[in-house]
Amino acid sequence: DADGIETTHWVQSEPVEYASFNIGVFKTFEFAHEYIPPVRIYMNQQAHQGLPLAVQRRDPEAFVASDVSKSLSFFQTAMGPLPAQELSIAEIPYLHGQAFPGMIHLSFLTFGMSEEEATNELFRAHEVAHQWWGVTVRPAGYRDQWLSEGMAEFSALWYMEALHGDNEETLKRLRRYRDRIRGRRDKALPTGLGPRVVVGGDDEDHQIMIYEKGAWIGWMLRHLLTDYDTGDDRVFRAFLQDVMRRYRNRPISTRQFQAVLEDYVGADMGWFFDQWVQGTGVPEYRFAHRGEALEDGRYKLEVRIRQRDVPDDFQMFVPLLLDFGEGRMKIVRLLVAGPETTQELLLPAEPTELTLNPLEAVLAEVRT
Ligand SMILES: [Zn+2]
Repeated sequence: DADGIETTHWVQSEPVEYASFNIGVFKTFEFAHEYIPPVRIYMNQQAHQGLPLAVQRRDPEAFVASDVSKSLSFFQTAMGPLPAQELSIAEIPYLHGQAFPGMIHLSFLTFGMSEEEATNELFRAHEVAHQWWGVTVRPAGYRDQWLSEGMAEFSALWYMEALHGDNEETLKRLRRYRDRIRGRRDKALPTGLGPRVVVGGDDEDHQIMIYEKGAWIGWMLRHLLTDYDTGDDRVFRAFLQDVMRRYRNRPISTRQFQAVLEDYVGADMGWFFDQWVQGTGVPEYRFAHRGEALEDGRYKLEVRIRQRDVPDDFQMFVPLLLDFGEGRMKIVRLLVAGPETTQELLLPAEPTELTLNPLEAVLAEVRT
């Protein structure tokens, strides 16, 4: 108005948990692609001029827009449409990121270059994934916080596989998380206590038990629902999309998430969530095998898995990779339950190599 005051009026069409505003001198950049909603970047150029020259990018806004668009596209295919007409990325002068419906705050650091660019990619993808985990569906209570932070972290790790065309960066991080989770297995409180894990624990436990173990839980579910013969994870994607459809703009609890999963598995999955969300056990598997060639040319394989560091009734489906050489491979699932599991397998030939828990399918330590 005449006093130089500009008044803006915002109307929220869907209920939101929290809102934010960000005031500054921004350069805007819009990225449009026919398969995704527009991505708009609000960037503070001056802030970057303060960064050391070595980490300054030539076109940070285009770089961030392109990266965000790729993860947005991946997540839409995996989990269904973005819950907003467009996605705005606003730079903030802090170190963190935070998601709101259709808007993400991203740290100024992510507009610069990093020694480990994959960490930067993971950070941005995690915040984009919150448009589904946290915005589309929100945790019912503090005990369900892993459904937001853990599933966002899992989604980001999943996206990294697609972005890089291999799983090296993803597996590297999962192994790092596993070592940290195992390191706290007798000390930290369970994931299902949400942010309360820091009470009587370490400050780091929130990161380890909610973000990192939560990501592992999503990762294990994806493996459980993957057809290893074809590599097809279509059932897993259908499950995630169904979660988004049924609980859109509504709170979801761990038990409700479990109930949707059970529709796809066709069996009770309470044991899975009791062990991994409400429990703190992380198994160690000691793997041994022997076998003999049969007269008909087949091979009889006996495997034995000794399980430690978990309660006696702990169970999990653990894949075993059988390599027959010349590129012929087969993955079978073994139900590993209790202190010792033995199983006999009749194979068409003698395998040249056996790998228990390939691709880090289960949060576990394997020793042979
Ligand atoms: Zn987060």
